[in-house]
Amino acid sequence: MNIIPIGIWGGYPKANGATSSFLIEHEGYNLLFDCGSGVLASLQNYIPLEQLDAVVISHYHADHIADIGSLQYSRLINYYTGNPMPPLPIYGHTQDKEGFEKLSYKEQTVGIEIFDRTSYTVGPFTLSFCPTVHPVYCLAMKVSAAGKTAVFTADTEWTDLLVEFSREADILISEANLYEEYLGKSPGHMAGSEAGTLARLAGAKRLILTHLPQYGELTTIAEAARGQYDGEVELAVVGKTYTLV
Ligand SMILES: [Zn+2]
Repeated sequence: MNIIPIGIWGGYPKANGATSSFLIEHEGYNLLFDCGSGVLASLQNYIPLEQLDAVVISHYHADHIADIGSLQYSRLINYYTGNPMPPLPIYGHTQDKEGFEKLSYKEQTVGIEIFDRTSYTVGPFTLSFCPTVHPVYCLAMKVSAAGKTAVFTADTEWTDLLVEFSREADILISEANLYEEYLGKSPGHMAGSEAGTLARLAGAKRLILTHLPQYGELTTIAEAARGQYDGEVELAVVGKTYTLV
């Protein structure tokens, strides 16, 4: 399984960047986790859009769905230019009915409902989901293939549920949207120290930080995580391939 960060920002992308999003590839199957602002442009540095096989949406905040409409237009343009493709599956929860309905568009994309406590086979992957603590209902995602497991926290403040969900993950990709001074003052997100604590308690083998703030010195977020976790900690690097074998 290969994981490529497509964007790393929370809320909005910095210049020429994209909000937090990951391309997950195995045996030629391409799965995209979240599709916010800037993601569609960034994604094309790694695969042609036609090679995208499925999308999973954690929740319906703009920085996770903003480019879904453009993705749908790209399929429609393929259709009009004589290159029709089967509907692209976009997996999302239905706690926000209006948000979920927008995942289906003119037979170019089709929304598929997901629930926590259920496993799904998507291409070569087994997916499962865990509710997080965020101002809107949001699902963390666990992806397994060929005996390796990656966990993506999506957006969340601290929740014990994620410790069990992330148990012995080969790679934990955690949001770390907050500097330590904002801990407890900004609901719905974690600081680096909490991401580190999550990785330690879960026994995760490696920690990658994402959904990062646009301001301040990002290395201090990684340092705060390292203060709680002895394993390898890294700020997600756009375009880097993290391979689990
Ligand atoms: Zn959010």
